[in-house]
Amino acid sequence: MSALDARHGIGVSPGTAVGPVVQVRPPVRPPALEPASTDPAASGQLVRQILESVAATLDDRAARVDAAAQQILAATAMMARDPGLSAAVDKHLASGRGPATAVDAATEEYCAIFIAAGGYLAERVTDLRDVRDRAVARLLGLEDPGVPELTEPAVIVAHDLAPAETAGLRRDLVLAIVTESGGPTSHTAILAAQMGIPAVVQLPHAVAIGDGTVLAVDGSTGEVFVDPDPATRAELVQRSERRAKALGTTSGPAATSDGHPVALLANIGTAQDAERAGALDVEGVGLFRTEFLFLDRETAPSLEEQVAVYTRVFEAFGTRRGVVRTLDAGADKPLAFADLGHEENPALGMRGLRLSAERPDLLDTQLTALATAARATGSDVRVMAPMVATAEEAAWFARRVHENGLPTVGVMIEVPAAALRARHVLAEVDFASIGTNDLAQYTLAADRTQGELATLLDPWQPALLDLVAAACGGGRDAGKPIGVCGEAAADPLLALVLTGLGVNSLSMAATRVPAVRAALSLHDLPTCAAMAEAARAARSPQDARDAVLGLAHRLMTDLV
Ligand code: PEP
Ligand code: MG
Repeated sequence: MSALDARHGIGVSPGTAVGPVVQVRPPVRPPALEPASTDPAASGQLVRQILESVAATLDDRAARVDAAAQQILAATAMMARDPGLSAAVDKHLASGRGPATAVDAATEEYCAIFIAAGGYLAERVTDLRDVRDRAVARLLGLEDPGVPELTEPAVIVAHDLAPAETAGLRRDLVLAIVTESGGPTSHTAILAAQMGIPAVVQLPHAVAIGDGTVLAVDGSTGEVFVDPDPATRAELVQRSERRAKALGTTSGPAATSDGHPVALLANIGTAQDAERAGALDVEGVGLFRTEFLFLDRETAPSLEEQVAVYTRVFEAFGTRRGVVRTLDAGADKPLAFADLGHEENPALGMRGLRLSAERPDLLDTQLTALATAARATGSDVRVMAPMVATAEEAAWFARRVHENGLPTVGVMIEVPAAALRARHVLAEVDFASIGTNDLAQYTLAADRTQGELATLLDPWQPALLDLVAAACGGGRDAGKPIGVCGEAAADPLLALVLTGLGVNSLSMAATRVPAVRAALSLHDLPTCAAMAEAARAARSPQDARDAVLGLAHRLMTDLV
């Protein structure tokens, strides 16, 4: 297939890759009206066989992983073989349920007991549900759901991937990620960029591509080539080389060509991210999404556990700054231990700082852990709150941070109200960082997890840029620094616009820093200001992009 036959999605994590497809199958639920088993004893026997086959698969996997993973898989296999589980299935079969429904009901009973027991057992609920999902799929004659165990490098293709699934992917074997759904600012896209895996979302009919089909993926342009011919493969390699060349040889603290400094920082979510990013040429951490540490936890992490992980993160950055965001739970990042129950509109509900106000115990434990780790490492730790809407909330958070012995406090500006009233919000704290992902979601009234709304969520939306300008104006009035840590910061062309609007730090997946640094080095501050003006004067995101590209250095076409 030639370059003309590319399919188009949205590139969300740069880089190119060629490899065979491995499809991720979604979990299947038992049929809604599954008929009662006509022979409960025979069905019970069948379920035992299926559970044994699931246990055997897990044993098989255990033989090929490291010691820690081995223990978990062995424990999960034991749960599949637990006679108590089969006996609970028998009970549901006898009461008139079909086999898949009986497995589901029996597993959920066990999960409830595990959750009530708390601690280690509660942490096993995810594994137990994995056993259930495999058993239900096998009973229905389907393939196991989830990310298959990879033995060879592959391009992972899915309808969508949950952030927890993405976090569990093996970086050494996943060449690229392609999803049919998912938005460019979804947490899956963010994680892929952080892990340095090329990724494309919103690829039409991606799930219909057969396992083993070879794909060539360009995570910058969003192009995907099915069964690429040698010429297409060669073109992809050339693209990578051109981009690498355009990155030039800039290093160290970033600045525009006339010397205006812009701190380039890393977004991280785990200690491993910190260790990877800490080894790179970045000025520190601009956003540590602490909730990423605990996505699969059923119980709240202890103080000691948090001190240990924060210490590891701060050590990776030495004396460089470390901006830590307190838990941003809720909406698309639910944390089981911070669940406040069903909400009609979770993105507009008790998420972020609002949840911390409801559960101050969680916030205080986290702040104590951060203060302890900061003291132990002597790091420049700055703490910021997610989802701040008002100056009162900013003041409440600042008080709590100071009470816990942390000197530097900031807020995220991701709610339009906070952007419009940034002067008052910033009067309460030391700095702000604009979360353009949520700010776009709330400005355009478009759910960021809904890939079909990607056009509205485009960070080039002039309305979004107007709000960034308003926030920067508030920062200037209050005499406080303001950064951007949403995905907008990682677009080299848009980074110039943000700089022109008055932003003084940009935080992104560490792998994106070289391109943004190169872009800044090619332009002076007055040009960035002119670009900002042109973008805000435009009528649409595309017009804004075109207008800015018209003012940009010719090498920018290879950087974007
Ligand atoms: C944002 O909203 O832009 C942001 C940086 O936070 P998150 O993506 O984690 O919601
Ligand atoms: Mg956000």
